[in-house]
Amino acid sequence: MNILVLGSGGREHTFAHQLAKSERCDKLFVAPGNAGTAAIATNVVLSVTDFSAIEKCVVDNDIDMVVVGPEDPLVLGIVNYFAETPSLKKVKIIGPSKRGALLEGSKERAKEFMMAHNIPTAAYASFTSESLSAGHAFLETLTAPYVLKADGLAAGKGVLIIDNLDEAKNSLTEMLGGKFGEASNTVVIEEFLDGIELSVFVLTDGKHYKVLPTAKDYKRIGEGDKGLNTGGMGAISPVPFVDEELMLKIEERIVKPTVEGLKKEEIDYKGFVFIGLIKVGNEPYVIEYNVRMGDPETEVVLPRIKTDLVDVLEATYDQDLDILQFELDNRAAATIMAVSGGYPEAYEKGKLITGLNTIEGSIVFHAGTALKDGEVVTNGGRVMAITSLDNDYKQAIKKSYQNIEKLHFDKMNYRTDIGFDLD
Ligand code: ATP
Repeated sequence: MNILVLGSGGREHTFAHQLAKSERCDKLFVAPGNAGTAAIATNVVLSVTDFSAIEKCVVDNDIDMVVVGPEDPLVLGIVNYFAETPSLKKVKIIGPSKRGALLEGSKERAKEFMMAHNIPTAAYASFTSESLSAGHAFLETLTAPYVLKADGLAAGKGVLIIDNLDEAKNSLTEMLGGKFGEASNTVVIEEFLDGIELSVFVLTDGKHYKVLPTAKDYKRIGEGDKGLNTGGMGAISPVPFVDEELMLKIEERIVKPTVEGLKKEEIDYKGFVFIGLIKVGNEPYVIEYNVRMGDPETEVVLPRIKTDLVDVLEATYDQDLDILQFELDNRAAATIMAVSGGYPEAYEKGKLITGLNTIEGSIVFHAGTALKDGEVVTNGGRVMAITSLDNDYKQAIKKSYQNIEKLHFDKMNYRTDIGFDLD
């Protein structure tokens, strides 16, 4: 089978790495990819939202399966495009239809879906510029902190958590006035949930599902989870504080009704559901749906799937997940992200990366890297993720730290406390 992975981050390198291990994978392509994917696949220069370029790539290379990494092409309807294009109809594309992708593309839609299917989530109301004064009045009925969310995609920056009522009112006015462009034409205001975050990943074929390993990511740039938000500085899987009782609640109250809800609403969905949760006491609440895998969570979740990934994805497309023999690796996985100095604000690119061939016992997943004159150089804020597996998650973390110390590039930065809060 010839396979194309769309995207260029650590997530996509992890998909490519796992797919390349399969005897069923003949030719592997990644578009646009990075220096890591170039070593195991053919990189194709194209934009992941340029559907006609993707179509050409698929036809020219006889691609049988497409794995969509990021959300943008999904929200723009790439799965519908494949279904409607004669030359692409038979290609096994992994991802939800446009209607399914709205669960991530619109926070209001996600809340409506959760309400309709009795899925536990924070109480909320949504507002537009016409209902601004009702929004201010609604804020007055809540207690601090106030959670304001731009309805649409805003590159992870559209959620504001504000302690002061007047500031919250001002922010609502600004958001509805276009602070995040069209993404904040509608704003969801929701009850603040005080708890610990974790993520659960599910693969669904639209009828059945498999629960994938849980993961916890570390979003902030600074030690102690302080400072600016990033795409993610590291992740651990499974989440040590998730006991059997909590997992059962998550499956019964959240995973099953989510898949049932998709079925009832006749939404075509053959792909990953990334459910962001907050555990309040020992009760799980959904804070968000994403319609693809997370990054860096993929770097700890996929290496824990023992079943051939081509078989897993094919069963997803063929709606055979119920009969798939599915096996997970019981070991824990940890990943630590090496980032460019200055990230998530301004940073430089093109720095030579050395030490890559001294890594032992960990896997290096490239994110923002490129090849220049045959050498690997930095090409983004998040540069590479070092993943390790071990029976004990603390040992996995230790291995990743031992190996990340062997890597070097000018102004390289990483957090030294990933997983230290889990004791
Ligand atoms: P991401 O960058 O993870 O994709 P996003 O912009 O899609 O995030 P959310 O995940 O909905 O938005 O919210 C971002 C963060 O805000 C969450 O990870 C969580 O820390 C916090 N948050 C969101 N909703 C709530 C809530 N109701 N109570 C407490 N914190 C919340």
